[in-house]
Amino acid sequence: MGVLVCCDCFFYRKSKTKPNGKKAPAEEKKHYLEPEYTKVRVMDFDLKDLVALPTREIDLNEWLASNTTTFFNLINLQYSTISEFCTGDTCQAMTACNTIYYWYDERGKKTKCTAPQYIDLVMTFVQKLVTDEEIFPTKYGKAFPNSFESLVKKVCRFLFHVLAHIYWSHFKETVALELQGHLNTLYAHFIVFVREFNLIDPKETCIMDDLSEVLCAPLPPLPHNHVTER
Ligand SMILES: [Zn+2]
Repeated sequence: MGVLVCCDCFFYRKSKTKPNGKKAPAEEKKHYLEPEYTKVRVMDFDLKDLVALPTREIDLNEWLASNTTTFFNLINLQYSTISEFCTGDTCQAMTACNTIYYWYDERGKKTKCTAPQYIDLVMTFVQKLVTDEEIFPTKYGKAFPNSFESLVKKVCRFLFHVLAHIYWSHFKETVALELQGHLNTLYAHFIVFVREFNLIDPKETCIMDDLSEVLCAPLPPLPHNHVTER
């Protein structure tokens, strides 16, 4: 207990919002949840351990469904923080690293749309899938459809496009909001997950390989030694 109090004082002193020696209310003491700390800690463990299928206890499809749904929610949330800056004027096409993504409707017709339109289509599509009991069953004993894996792959590819667009077009705003730690953590976790289960063709993710290499590197990170391949 003594150690905990000590740590708390240490973090408390470093806090920008020190209220003149007054004791913080209990709910404000979770300093470990602050991004400036969590983003540091995240590199202290191997993300591969986090994404690997827990042996025997969990069915592979259950694991994929649960993680995919979580990534959808987190990426949706991350995008919402900068969505006011992502407009039809600022982002006239869905771009990331000189790549333009086109939306294909149910009939396979290619459509060029603005980034916010594209992302809205992605989020609506994924939301519909992950809440469809026939595709992402939540009831015990209900089987996953044969198309499950290919749909998960499609969802992951779309979510990757959204992350890539945030980095490419909205990183400055993300930094201004001090959310780059969240974004980096989310991105690294996502990339390690999709690699573990081969959910996205590496040809798709290669546009962001330079970043992936830095963020997904095992400890110790080598920020000055990574090679940028273009
Ligand atoms: Zn945008």
